[in-house]
Amino acid sequence: MNKRWRNVGLYVLAVITVIFIGTSVFDKPSTESSTKILRYSDFIEAVQDKEISRVLISPDNATAQVIENDGSRSEVNLAPDKDLLKILTENNVDIAVTPTKLANPWQQAVSSLIFPVLLIGGLFFLFRRSQNGNAGGGNPAMSFGKSKARLQMEPSTQVTFSDVAGVEGAKLELTEVVDFLKSPDRFTAVGAKIPKGVLLVGPPGTGKTLLAKAVAGEAGVPFFSISGSEFVEMFVGVGASRVRDLFEQAKKNAPCIVFIDEIDAVGRQRGAGMGGGNDEREQTLNQLLTEMDGFEGNSGIIIVAATNRPDVLDSALMRPGRFDRQVTVDRPDYAGRLQILNVHAKDKTLSKDVDLDKVARRTPGFTGADLANLLNEAAILAARKDLDKVSNDEVGDAIERVMAGPEKKDRVISDKKKELVAYHEAGHALVGALMPDYDPVAKVSIIPRGQAGGLTFFTPSEERMESGLYSRSYLQNQMAVALGGRVAEEIVYGEEEVTTGASNDLQQVANVARQMITKFGMSDKIGPVALGQSQGGMFLGRDMSSTRDFSEDTAATIDVEVSELVDVAYKRATKVLSDNRSVLDEMAQMLIERETIDTEDIQDLLNRSEVVVANYI
Ligand code: ADP
Ligand code: ZN
Repeated sequence: MNKRWRNVGLYVLAVITVIFIGTSVFDKPSTESSTKILRYSDFIEAVQDKEISRVLISPDNATAQVIENDGSRSEVNLAPDKDLLKILTENNVDIAVTPTKLANPWQQAVSSLIFPVLLIGGLFFLFRRSQNGNAGGGNPAMSFGKSKARLQMEPSTQVTFSDVAGVEGAKLELTEVVDFLKSPDRFTAVGAKIPKGVLLVGPPGTGKTLLAKAVAGEAGVPFFSISGSEFVEMFVGVGASRVRDLFEQAKKNAPCIVFIDEIDAVGRQRGAGMGGGNDEREQTLNQLLTEMDGFEGNSGIIIVAATNRPDVLDSALMRPGRFDRQVTVDRPDYAGRLQILNVHAKDKTLSKDVDLDKVARRTPGFTGADLANLLNEAAILAARKDLDKVSNDEVGDAIERVMAGPEKKDRVISDKKKELVAYHEAGHALVGALMPDYDPVAKVSIIPRGQAGGLTFFTPSEERMESGLYSRSYLQNQMAVALGGRVAEEIVYGEEEVTTGASNDLQQVANVARQMITKFGMSDKIGPVALGQSQGGMFLGRDMSSTRDFSEDTAATIDVEVSELVDVAYKRATKVLSDNRSVLDEMAQMLIERETIDTEDIQDLLNRSEVVVANYI
């Protein structure tokens, strides 16, 4: 989902860049002395009379070139008017920022590529994720010119709690906030302090924005939203003043909800970050804290913020009277996924063979956004096929699309490559199928998808996913399965012929082995201790400098243990596949012929073959 959006974002930026190159070539700021200077008030009047088609603002916001409908140009000295953008937008004036003048044309050319993206992207163009995961229609180039407001205000969101599914706990906690907003008097009468800030914590796409909107919708109050990254990506000093603006607006419209997405972009621990602090961000954060302290909870403004990284937030944000409530919004479990699917299936015509229950079972780990996206993709596939209903086939395809990106059916593949990929995937699948205590194979495909030449899908067990508990034997099997592809290549083509196609697999194996030893205490030599502090991903800021908390000796032991684990897994995979070479051949043949095979095909194959199931442990 996120990746998708990033792509759309890039696309939009690309469009902006193209436009900008256009403008920088044709509308180069003229330096001739004959330029007419407009008075600011006349300029505004002309805008309101719709006589102006385009305005090129200087990077320092001091002057602008004005292009009238008839093409004539003039210049205006801009007054510090914060309504200017609004007025321009309302009157359909196309807005752009001119690049700073540079010495040589080459620099100018380069800068016209870089500057506009930064400046326009930051200043006037606010790329908001559309609510339902659609591109939101409209021409991206248009929305650029018409400069969206940075602060989004929805007088009434029309979203209710019934639109948000599978996050019952979070809804329950937020019901209280709705009550506060609806009848604050009831609470103030008995001296209860109304909370000012609620922090929603959870991975992207789990419905945090949707929940915040639902709170506003349920309470019938306006919804303001801004993203933390929009506070800080700008010119110096803008972040803090935006925070002031935001609260000014909110106070005027109280009671209301103010939603700050990605609060970690502003709220990261002060003093963290590489190369010293980021003054701009700290000023913004300080302003936010000041504003939050400055209004009484009873003013009717409730700030809802969202983050995926509560651990990096500055502790000052969590003090009483600020974001003192935290609500966790997790990935939905099976029941939650089913509810979410039902919500999003409402506006789609599904044929009877679509079993949402099965879909919910097949999609552990999916977020609400993934599920919404899945059904939407399925509907698009159905429309492309000219069907009047979405059938099971499209839903199945959509699940895989969401997991691994669209198939690249038209990519030309040589027969040799095809055979190699077939053996590689069959290797994964066969090791997986023959290992006791491993997830069942759902599907094997040699149609390229995303970066992958082929894919083997397993159905992860819900229990394992939910509990997060993986047994040692499961992890050992996982390593063997991941090595299965490479091993099959070796067995069939010889060690000299192996390809780089397994690099992902090898990475995965190494990760699993290292975690088993340093995190899960599954090494006899090292014992049940957790080593190394930063187990999460690396982020700018705090984790960057995390140090190793073990000795060189231990490090060496870990390396030995890792390679031992990998070695054992490698031997097991080799044994399974060489014991069952004929089954491997047959599976590869099936793949070459049909390109995809599923659980039943594999079961058939195993039933009719002489399978050797030795004790592979
Ligand atoms: P977040 O703010 O957590 O990144 P969003 O609220 O933006 O996630 O979710 C994006 C979209 O995904 C929503 O507009 C909605 O269509 C869908 N969605 C996400 N979570 C849920 C949910 N719990 N119930 C229903 N739809 C959901
Ligand atoms: Zn592989």
